[in-house]
Amino acid sequence: MDKIFLPEWKRAVIKVGSSIVAPFGTGCSTNYLLSIAQFIIESVHKGKEIVLVSSGAVAAGYSTRQNKNGNTSFSIPEKQALASIGQPLLMEIWSRLFDFRCAQILITYDAIKNRNRFINARNTINELLKLNVLPIVNENDTVSVDELKVGDNDNLAAHVAVISEADLLIICSDIDGLFSDNPNKNKKATLIKEVVKIDKSIYEIAGGSSNPLARGGMYTKIQAAEKATARGISTIIVNGKKKESFDEMLKGVLPGTIFKPKNNPVAAKKHWITHALKTCGTVTVDEGAEKAILKKGASLLPSGIISVEGNFSHGDAIEIINKENKSFAKGIAQYDSSDMLKIKGLKSKDIQTVLGFFQSEEIIHRNDLIILE
Ligand code: GLU
Repeated sequence: MDKIFLPEWKRAVIKVGSSIVAPFGTGCSTNYLLSIAQFIIESVHKGKEIVLVSSGAVAAGYSTRQNKNGNTSFSIPEKQALASIGQPLLMEIWSRLFDFRCAQILITYDAIKNRNRFINARNTINELLKLNVLPIVNENDTVSVDELKVGDNDNLAAHVAVISEADLLIICSDIDGLFSDNPNKNKKATLIKEVVKIDKSIYEIAGGSSNPLARGGMYTKIQAAEKATARGISTIIVNGKKKESFDEMLKGVLPGTIFKPKNNPVAAKKHWITHALKTCGTVTVDEGAEKAILKKGASLLPSGIISVEGNFSHGDAIEIINKENKSFAKGIAQYDSSDMLKIKGLKSKDIQTVLGFFQSEEIIHRNDLIILE
């Protein structure tokens, strides 16, 4: 097959997974990191900017424990303790490989959900890059519990690519890219070099993770690619264990799979509502409200709501469901679920009387609402 060239890029986010940083059972190892570091150094010398997203804190922490007994199922506090032990080890091993400084950024879902924090994170990354420092990002596993987590570093890397306005996201995997089937099981599986549109069929060929100390697998890499490409960021999956991957990238050649960026990337706010905000509940609406939202660009008013599901707060993202149980829109709730239950089906002018306060006429304002594809 003909060579595919990488798109021109200035700023890239590189995601390196636990199986590369801390191959299972051995703790942090420079084994695979040397060629990644070499790639980063040469790219920086060429005037490019790199943000590194590195996993491996939990795996590195685990490697320091004695009497491991092969046990890899941990309680949340145990995992958080391991991350706390491993994170400095992770920073230490990366720092050793560069003669410029590395800076640690630990992110929680909060920095993605909250626009102010999002902008703060962006400013910090920009400042670090200006100072010729390599930002190294990981999830703040030590303080995040599940509902406050991004959960896996593939999706985290996509968020970081959006936050830092990168033009390329490089996800280093332990296989060559996306295959038509699991290459470990099916010898006839072929490497897919280029994905133009991420649809159901692409998700169907991605399996789960086999590493108990990491999250993710091909599935989360596709999710990450979907998030990044929707914002116009080319995403590639390469084999991070092969030096040739990095040699090729330095020559501008694609060594794995490329997910093409969307031609007309979605606006920042729409992207944020679609990809950054987790859905915390749903409201089911009547046909009139559905039509007004889909055909007339209307906001969601209390009168169209039939039922409210879930426990959510003002400011959380919720989905709007039609009578056929199809979710067709998503937006930011102006009222808590408990208040919505009291005003559903009512006219907006009755809100004050029923609740004793008035936040807005709309349940979801049109400016905070997106139509799902
Ligand atoms: N943040 C986790 C760690 O550093 C890894 C999560 C992941 O592998 O995606 O161990």
